[in-house]
Amino acid sequence: MQPGENVDPAEIAKFSKLAQEWWNPFGSCKPLHDINPLRVNFIEKYTALKDKTVLDIGCGGGILTEALARAGSKVTAIDLAHEALEVAKAHAAEEQLTIDYRECSAEDLATEIPHHFDVITCMELLEHVPDPAKIVQAAARLLKPNGHLFFSTINRNIKAYLYAVVGAEYLLKLLPKGTHDYHKFLTPNEMFEMLQPEGLQLSHMAGIQYHPILKTYRLTSDVSVNYLLHCYKDAPT
Ligand code: SAH
Repeated sequence: MQPGENVDPAEIAKFSKLAQEWWNPFGSCKPLHDINPLRVNFIEKYTALKDKTVLDIGCGGGILTEALARAGSKVTAIDLAHEALEVAKAHAAEEQLTIDYRECSAEDLATEIPHHFDVITCMELLEHVPDPAKIVQAAARLLKPNGHLFFSTINRNIKAYLYAVVGAEYLLKLLPKGTHDYHKFLTPNEMFEMLQPEGLQLSHMAGIQYHPILKTYRLTSDVSVNYLLHCYKDAPT
């Protein structure tokens, strides 16, 4: 990590400490395991994954990454938390999946191999970085013309604070306390304003809703708390 890089060392330390939790389906990453099929369904609604060149930005222990590889895509996955990547590599080896895991920033990869990927996923990351616009910019640069880009993040409003921070971290204890900083949440409008200058067209959004009694998640049109976003890059005319 270099000074001035678009990364919060406290966030990386937090996710490194999770190392042994990533693949525990009942631990603090349970919500990521539970929403994973919904995320993959959302992606596959808008693009096929088979034989595509895919990048997963902020892959953590590889929960989404492995699902992308199982869907038949050729996956590169990046993160800056060394321990998370070690866990991801070991787990992929156990599962006999071929995934190119790299410890590098999206910004550096964009300089190295611009316009390289058919599909890019960047889930649950933007609300953990100092300057999310720079990640969006790097993702746009990494994407091929006509490529598809998928983000997920958390909306910023009183309901999102009550559900995603108070509810998830303090009442239901789905996530460790301090996982999320409300001030870093992003409204769909803020997302739109970051996408537009990069030539990314916002195409679809869906909310992810938790049912506290059934303990299940579902996709919904309500994007007031957690939400997914699909965009694509127009080919130059
Ligand atoms: N995308 C995964 C993991 C989300 S947790 C999933 O949804 O299943 C957020 C991840 O972002 C952590 O692994 C953390 O280490 C990583 N991260 C935080 N800042 C980053 C940055 N600037 N560049 C790349 N990864 C980052």
